[in-house]
Amino acid sequence: MNARTFALSVAALLATIALPARAAVDVVTTTEGLAAVVREVGGDRVKVTALSRGIQDPHFVDANPSLAVKLRNADLLVDVGMDLEIGWLPPLVIQSRNSAIQPGGARRLTAASVVPPMDVPTGPVDRGQGDIHPAGNPHFLSDPRRVQLVAAAIAARLSELDPAGATTYQARLQAFRSRVEVAEKGWKAQLAPFAGRSVVTQHKTLTYLLDWAGLKAAGYMEPRPGVSPPPSHVAGLAATVKAAGVKGVLVENYYDRRSADQLRDLAGVKVIVIPGDVGGTKEASDWGSYVDVLVKALVQAVQ
Ligand SMILES: [Zn+2]
Repeated sequence: MNARTFALSVAALLATIALPARAAVDVVTTTEGLAAVVREVGGDRVKVTALSRGIQDPHFVDANPSLAVKLRNADLLVDVGMDLEIGWLPPLVIQSRNSAIQPGGARRLTAASVVPPMDVPTGPVDRGQGDIHPAGNPHFLSDPRRVQLVAAAIAARLSELDPAGATTYQARLQAFRSRVEVAEKGWKAQLAPFAGRSVVTQHKTLTYLLDWAGLKAAGYMEPRPGVSPPPSHVAGLAATVKAAGVKGVLVENYYDRRSADQLRDLAGVKVIVIPGDVGGTKEASDWGSYVDVLVKALVQAVQ
């Protein structure tokens, strides 16, 4: 190598150092639903990893130490909050030794902090009785109104962490909002003939979506969030269901459906198994297709 080719090689090397391929923002989310929303807003400027799968009950995820490793170098941790992940996320965050993703940290975004909550207990909550929604209902992401608030918060935080991408994040946020609004019109049209009708759900996972849809819950398989239904509860629910003319019960595919089958046998309702989140079934591959599946299930459940 002569001096000239060496100089050119150094120049080429410097060029690669000076102009690296832009590193993606490393985002970790607790659920696949949140990961899907981060993807909508972040596009290829972000690398997203979800700590749980859509086929899992998000209240009860195994806090495997390998998950702490994913958090170690995260640029941003997005969690649901309202105690959804209380049983498994705090030890992982501590183990990660990533100080910026601790609660309240600059690289921590808790989605519940930007949505109006439902089911907030007004009286004392007895955790000993097993209620796993002591801070209100954390299952808000399937609500087309609230997902837009969460997407806006994600866009704002990504813009702070990656200012060069701010224009991209805002443009992608607007595009996502437009798609949600168009989809909402279609979903509302499917649901409109059934306004005011009631369903039964296993857990209070659809409270926000039912509210958005103009539908009601006549009851829940679980006597309290997180508590498996005893036979006496199913018998009582059967009477309620018959009196209210309920046609269907919706059960996420990570729950044991046997109690719902008992209700079917007692009260003649249909049992409709649904994904619990994005990734919960093959069809529910992103936020829009997940809600699409839920709306079809609701239509099936009310007629
Ligand atoms: Zn829950």
